[in-house]
Amino acid sequence: MTYYLPGGISYNPNIPTPKEVLGYHPGEWHVSHDQLLYYMRKVATSSDRMIIEEIGRTHEGRPLIQLTISTPANLANLDQIKADHKKITHSSKSGSMNTDDMPIVIWLGYSVHGNEASGSNASLLLGYYLAAAIGNEINELLENSIIILDPSFNPDGLQRFSTWVNMHRSHVINPDANDREYDEVWPGGRTNHYWFDLNRDWLPLQQPESRARIARFHDWKPNILTDHHEMGTNSTFFFQPGIPSRKFPWTPDKNVELTHKMAKFHAKYLDEIGSLYYSEESFDDFYIGKGSTYPDVNGSIGILFEQASSRGHAQENDYGILTFPMAIRNHFTVSLSTLASGIAHRKEFLDYQRNFYKEATNLASIDVVKAYVFGSEKDAYRNVELTKMLIQHEIKVYPLNQDVTRNGKSFKKGKAFVVPMDQDQYRLAKAIFEVRTTFNDSLFYDVSTWTMPLAFNLPYAELNSKDLSSLTLREPLQYVDVPKGEFIGNKGAYAYAIEPYGYLSFKAINRLLSRKIVVQMLNEVHYDGNKTYPRGTMIIPAGMQESKRAIIEQMIDLIVKEDAVDVYSLKTGLASSGVDLGSRSNTTLKEPKIAVLVGEGVSGYEVGEVWHLLDQRYQMKVTLLPVNKLGRSLSRYNRIILPNAYLDSMSDSHKKNLKEWISRGGMVIAWKNGGKWLSESEITGVKYVSSSDEEGEEKKESFKVYEDLDEERGAQVTGGSIFEAKVDLTHPLAYGMERDRMALFRNHNLVMEKSKNAYANPFVYSENPLLSGYVSEKNLERFKNSPAVTVSSVGRGKVITFTDNPNFRAFWYGTNKIFMNALFFGKAISRRAGE
Ligand SMILES: [Zn+2]
Repeated sequence: MTYYLPGGISYNPNIPTPKEVLGYHPGEWHVSHDQLLYYMRKVATSSDRMIIEEIGRTHEGRPLIQLTISTPANLANLDQIKADHKKITHSSKSGSMNTDDMPIVIWLGYSVHGNEASGSNASLLLGYYLAAAIGNEINELLENSIIILDPSFNPDGLQRFSTWVNMHRSHVINPDANDREYDEVWPGGRTNHYWFDLNRDWLPLQQPESRARIARFHDWKPNILTDHHEMGTNSTFFFQPGIPSRKFPWTPDKNVELTHKMAKFHAKYLDEIGSLYYSEESFDDFYIGKGSTYPDVNGSIGILFEQASSRGHAQENDYGILTFPMAIRNHFTVSLSTLASGIAHRKEFLDYQRNFYKEATNLASIDVVKAYVFGSEKDAYRNVELTKMLIQHEIKVYPLNQDVTRNGKSFKKGKAFVVPMDQDQYRLAKAIFEVRTTFNDSLFYDVSTWTMPLAFNLPYAELNSKDLSSLTLREPLQYVDVPKGEFIGNKGAYAYAIEPYGYLSFKAINRLLSRKIVVQMLNEVHYDGNKTYPRGTMIIPAGMQESKRAIIEQMIDLIVKEDAVDVYSLKTGLASSGVDLGSRSNTTLKEPKIAVLVGEGVSGYEVGEVWHLLDQRYQMKVTLLPVNKLGRSLSRYNRIILPNAYLDSMSDSHKKNLKEWISRGGMVIAWKNGGKWLSESEITGVKYVSSSDEEGEEKKESFKVYEDLDEERGAQVTGGSIFEAKVDLTHPLAYGMERDRMALFRNHNLVMEKSKNAYANPFVYSENPLLSGYVSEKNLERFKNSPAVTVSSVGRGKVITFTDNPNFRAFWYGTNKIFMNALFFGKAISRRAGE
């Protein structure tokens, strides 16, 4: 322990060390999450400086725990301290608060990437040190701060990784990088259960770990939040500030100034233990869905730490041998320097936080946009999901109480929401609704935009002060839930109908199909004299299925209750206009039997997004099919999904087997390099625009300066931007869409060629497609008018190739719809509409 802990002080012998509880010193083995939990509970019950709480559970049911650490006196007065602290984040209340003696709130958070484990292992030492240290320094620290110790941001990933490295650890530790210990199997422990990168989910909040954390974040409004990571084995140690030109524009400059002040402490502490480090040369604070950036748009200071990874117990690197204890010690040390910097500049952090929220009023007053209104008339689910996200971020949202039309878009009372800009969360609300196409820098560590109403494909509009003053806003919503659907008409009907607008309409249909109930889909409009049923309407001909009537009507009750769609009863099949209900143009829907290809070469994130979408939102059964099983019989599936993938080593016999399965009537839905692989394997005839022309152009340029290399190449990366597509609303892939333009998310540069058969490209990038985000002029030119979807007919089957991933990070509810339409309605596409 002397290797890690500050010397010259004594430690309370009543506090158990990690070794006393776990049987080993930190760093000898990788702590599993269960052990971490066990130790933290032991140390918390032994100490009167700590309160331990469970704040939520992961997908795998692991507790998310936090320790609140301070003096016993502060802990006894915690509610008051919290209430006072939160007042400084409310512009209307903060003026009366004196920060002279107020404790600073510091949140230490570890290993959001589960296979960057030195952070969580360092948290054992933090738990021990903060409970056991004796002396003036610790007393001053605890008296002047509330410390939130969050030992594992990602318990499921940490557990996975610890199992891997511990099961391969030799008694004689072998630092050979070729050893299996350092070569985790796909998909690794970085992500959570559904293979989501939790360090991108602080804004979208689609995962339970993030939702629990953000609730606590706003409960405490910390002044500092640290985010401890690992990077490549041949690196040193990084602490923020990151690259100065890549700060998110709504983050105040003072944030960077305070980050610099903290950096002096990290440097001093790391100098003392002889560790090499750097700052400002890499990483950035642009995308606000990361742990080190989300705090920055909330009046806090987020700090990213990156330690060279031993990715196991010890590994050779350019500096000799990097041991796991060395990595742990660096994270422990900068945790202490963070605490010291917080105490040294305590009042400055608190006053910064107060000013941050005071400025919100001024910023709102000079903004010509006074509010945003959003909402779909036809799909309550997406309205509510976006509203929930806003409420979790403590953004004030109001229900719209009267009909509004703005810029040709109409918003209906009760079916739309208003977000006024004059509120404490001005900056965050602005960051969620604005579009941005100009930037200080052309390089981004992650995405360059995330405009939420575009991601949700919801109509939205800016309101000016005149518009806003004409509205009566009552109380902001505290909570919102998905409204129930309605059953319209009477039971015992001839047939029932469900319109295709609702996000969860597929959940409804799957309930029916999985019980072998016949469901037909309208490919032409049906008007019964009262109501128009659009293309894509799903018809349950109950009169034809009398033996199943009881189960059909039981399902309809469930659908109305849980799936946020309306169900209509119909008395006759005869149309007043349009087709009759038994039209020969109908498609009989089949229950999707889905396999998603997984394994080495396939994007774990994108597979995880599909798995999460189908399993969690639609409650559909899905097989995660290893790519090496593609040679086996595939007859039990009728849909195979292939996300971004590089499958160069796939054998010809596997390709042949897949092609034969498609020819017999199977359907593949693929995107990005998954689609390209199908094309290269001659399973489809889709052609991709080559980038060789540009390379040719580059060669002609005579002379380039070496130092421009990174900048120039980086500027051609499309890290994540939003583009507009034209939509053919009569095509089955667009059924249930309300507008003939929609937003797509793109984070790559692949471009498909237009098909010779124009009917094969029902979604096409528009003439001026950039809606928000960074793209180079050269790439923008390539994307214009290019297909976003190509349909291929292969024998009796089909391949539907998307240019882009339709399920990005689970918050692209808008493009989820194209994916689900392909899954359920793809079969309806005429063979004559294939490339
Ligand atoms: Zn990381």
